[in-house]
Amino acid sequence: MKFFRILNCFFVIALFSAGARALAQENQPDMEAKKIGLVIHGGAGTIERSKMTPEKERDYRAGLERALTAGYEILKRGGSSLDATEAAVRMLEDDPHFNAGKGSVFTSAGTNEMDASIMDGGTLKAGAVASVRHVKNPIGLARLVMEKSPHVMLDCAGAEAFAKENGIELVDEKYFFTQERWDALQKIKEAEKHGGIGGKNFFISEDDRHGTVGAVALDRSGNLAAATSTGGMTNKMPGRIGDTPVIGAGTYANNQTCAVSCTGDGEYFIRVGAAHEVSTLMEYRGMKLQEAAQTALHAVKKLGGSGGLIAIDKNGEVALPFNTNGMYRGHVDPSGKFVVEIYK
Ligand code: ASP
Repeated sequence: MKFFRILNCFFVIALFSAGARALAQENQPDMEAKKIGLVIHGGAGTIERSKMTPEKERDYRAGLERALTAGYEILKRGGSSLDATEAAVRMLEDDPHFNAGKGSVFTSAGTNEMDASIMDGGTLKAGAVASVRHVKNPIGLARLVMEKSPHVMLDCAGAEAFAKENGIELVDEKYFFTQERWDALQKIKEAEKHGGIGGKNFFISEDDRHGTVGAVALDRSGNLAAATSTGGMTNKMPGRIGDTPVIGAGTYANNQTCAVSCTGDGEYFIRVGAAHEVSTLMEYRGMKLQEAAQTALHAVKKLGGSGGLIAIDKNGEVALPFNTNGMYRGHVDPSGKFVVEIYK
């Protein structure tokens, strides 16, 4: 009798621990999905320490921190990665230090033409706008294209008409004037008259020439998103469109792999299909995020392009490679601390 009682006891314990294990396993995916993550950039280029005053550096850092705060608050509250990336990019678009929205660079005709795109990794839906000239926050319009139009990309007057119909804030072109960007255009034009920007009397830093802002995020539901916005390249031909609004080149997100936002010489990122390349290398070559991001950037470099990218994968791992001597960048580490960096 005693023997049977002991046996019974073992049986109950075994049953209980199997049940507990099953419960723990069931909860596993949920726990994974609860991770959140955010990475942002404010452009890659020749960021010269000698030209950077302490005040300027403080402004850049503060701008990046504001963008991280805007995005991370949303993620912490359980909001979506789309909302978080849009909010972070908006913040950077409103900051005159970065080449997007307010601080956009000038074309050779002295105009501002902005590009932006956003992508939802859960549905693979995407929206983009190119060459818009009066839209205060191009990223908001890109999101609207994704959510309220049957298309992926709208440009110029058509994009702006769509913005107006939907109550998106339009501003006078004057809003985008900043003295620093205007001076950079004059410097490049002057250099061109004297043998090009490589001429020894006319060193034009990449910081003067381009830049872009972007954000990638992972939300509590396990959804990835990417958003990118830019004024393009100083002195670009009117009508030139870079990689930023091209889905797969400057922006890409897929819940199965990662979310990516690029910055740098757009023409090369387009030719490599850089953002999609990172995802593809993970999906078909089984690479981890870091290796995939480095490999895609290496392909850009091999063609002659410089720049960088930010990426986050479905597990919240992040990568921020660049082949220039600096990239304005920031991310939130696993403990929730903001990490903001500029130089290598
Ligand atoms: N990729 C942007 C463009 O080509 C510029 C940049 O990121 O620096 O328009």
